[in-house]
Amino acid sequence: MSDHILQLPLTHFKGVGKKLNEKLAQMGVSTLEDVLFHFPLRYQDRTKLSQVGELREGMDAYIQGTIRAAGVTRGRRSTLIVKLEDGTGLVTLRFFHFRRAQVLQMRVGSTLTAFGQPKFVGGQLELIHPEYHVGDQTPDLASTLTPVYPTTEGVGQATWRNLTTQALRELASNPPADYLGDVLSEQLGLSDAITLLHRPPASANIQQILDSDHPAHHRLALEELTAHQLSMLTNRQRNEAKSTHSVTGSGDLAARLKAALPFQLTAAQQRVCKEIRDDLQRNTPMLRLLQGDVGSGKTLVAAISAAHMVESGHQVALMAPTELLSEQHYAAFDRWFTPLGITVLRLTGQIKGKARAASVEAIANGAVDIVIGTHALFQESVSFSSLGLVLVDEQHRFGVNQRLSLTQRGIETTTPHQLTMTATPIPRTLSMVAYADLDCSVIDELPPGRQAITTSVIDSERRQSVIQRVGTACREGKQAYWVCPLIEESELLSANAAEETYSTLQAELPDLRIALLHGKLASDEKASIMAEFAAGNTHILVATTVIEVGVDVPNASLMIIENAERFGLAQLHQLRGRVGRGSIESHCLLIFQPPLSQTARERLTVMRESQDGFVIAEKDLAIRGPGEVLGTRQTGLSSFRVARLPEHEGLLQQAQALAKELIRSEPTVANALENRWTRDRQAFGQV
Ligand code: ADP
Ligand code: MG
Repeated sequence: MSDHILQLPLTHFKGVGKKLNEKLAQMGVSTLEDVLFHFPLRYQDRTKLSQVGELREGMDAYIQGTIRAAGVTRGRRSTLIVKLEDGTGLVTLRFFHFRRAQVLQMRVGSTLTAFGQPKFVGGQLELIHPEYHVGDQTPDLASTLTPVYPTTEGVGQATWRNLTTQALRELASNPPADYLGDVLSEQLGLSDAITLLHRPPASANIQQILDSDHPAHHRLALEELTAHQLSMLTNRQRNEAKSTHSVTGSGDLAARLKAALPFQLTAAQQRVCKEIRDDLQRNTPMLRLLQGDVGSGKTLVAAISAAHMVESGHQVALMAPTELLSEQHYAAFDRWFTPLGITVLRLTGQIKGKARAASVEAIANGAVDIVIGTHALFQESVSFSSLGLVLVDEQHRFGVNQRLSLTQRGIETTTPHQLTMTATPIPRTLSMVAYADLDCSVIDELPPGRQAITTSVIDSERRQSVIQRVGTACREGKQAYWVCPLIEESELLSANAAEETYSTLQAELPDLRIALLHGKLASDEKASIMAEFAAGNTHILVATTVIEVGVDVPNASLMIIENAERFGLAQLHQLRGRVGRGSIESHCLLIFQPPLSQTARERLTVMRESQDGFVIAEKDLAIRGPGEVLGTRQTGLSSFRVARLPEHEGLLQQAQALAKELIRSEPTVANALENRWTRDRQAFGQV
């Protein structure tokens, strides 16, 4: 057996004791083969010195210069600051933790060599806690790139270098099985590709390696993407083996629901409703993703699907990511279904005691047809008498894990159909990867009569004039959202920021009715504030991002977003989508606090130039990378070891074809390949 030695436990190798072995096992690394397939996350470039005048944010900066000033500032937290100059510019090195000996070492006039990644601080590039060395010997230039491995606490880079060195030594005489060798014979061999990524030789093209664009990357990324497609296909096969409740009715209930609407469905809504109904009539569970830009009318499509299921005598659950949204969905479903004699119930984490017990009982004995709630609905033990369909709104908030655990929640013998809706359009590339195990429906048309939204980007210096403009518009009967950013570290701080804006606006516009909405409020308070705004009784709603998803008040036509530079593109698009829902012309004002970083500037420009969710999503992917676009760690996308998206987009189709072929013709190989790359995905991606 050629790969025997690769399968030995790591304790057989030098430097691996019991403790380290355990830590590695937690990361899914338990054999030498696992070590070989544990690739560098990135590389450091210490092959050349950079000039201070040419530093860019986030690059690897290896610099040498003369100390021009050094000192400790006393503030809330004392900081050691060193100014370094190399003839092309001056850069600040900043240390928050330092010893006295370090301070003494930083003598003006001495030569210092540093390595780190520059960061913008107050508009200037700084190196925070760089590695450094004081003394004027010529810097140690590396002849190759230095690999940086993904790791876990207590396992240093030196350990990974030691492990990979030992593993690479065995590689030549014990090459790992090359599952794709037959198909990819003309490409770089598997062992060579592995070696190259662990130890890029001096002769390799450094830029190609830094950009994940070397043939070795392509070779391994293809294998990894194939393994990923395999696991998706296996999931799908597993799903298809399950049975479910299917729709058998005539469609009369859905027809009555539609007849009662004050408008017609768009052609896209009709097409999508048909796709879903076809799925619901089968006796294997549907796993379908419904994509549609904000305001495209996904809720109604969900309601019509629910009508089909209820007509056939089964129950429907609708899961929303926030209380506020579940309240809104409840209002819509109640308005549509109650007149038709269908029972709709709202269940949230806040309904407790007897009321909850009664609800739970009604769900269990089938007295309720449609249950609407936040995901708390599924986290606690609620059992349905006959659950036929689960509707999940704003899928990307939940991630893939939730999707799977939900499926498992079904009553043992049947699995409910599942429709997940997302308003964040997912670039095709990503949906091929993240949702290859789902079917996809797209509502690619907005209801008629929607007005375009004009977006302006405004410096915060002009905030005062924005306040006056908004005041004037509101006096003419318009309604506005005024969004303050969520401060990630603290709900409380964001609530405070919103409160401050609220008081300012009240002071500046005393004749207007202004309300404040944030996550700290009780859910009935939130609901009544929303209801007042929806009824047109409030001019301005100051809010944190709690209003981001799903809020639907057609008369609101102004959206002001403060500190817009702190939001991601998807979030800005979501927020802006709260206006432009009625027939009035809408405006979105993005107020930013200078200085803008390069990516923030790009984001705001994209927002000003486009209102198309798909275009915005593609740009978002290009600017941020896939892990963040899907808001994920959970999706497993951020955990690819070699594959990078969108860079390796071109390999996806081949990976998909290879996976299908392998599953059909060589199931054992398919299985081995899947295992090699997908062991413990969750443990990955931690640095
Ligand atoms: P989203 O896709 O963002 O969830 P919603 O389902 O909230 O969109 O729909 C946005 C608004 O458009 C709602 O007020 C809804 O009633 C309305 N709507 C949905 N479908 C149509 C249609 N075909 N014609 C007119 N208005 C519609
Ligand atoms: Mg919605």
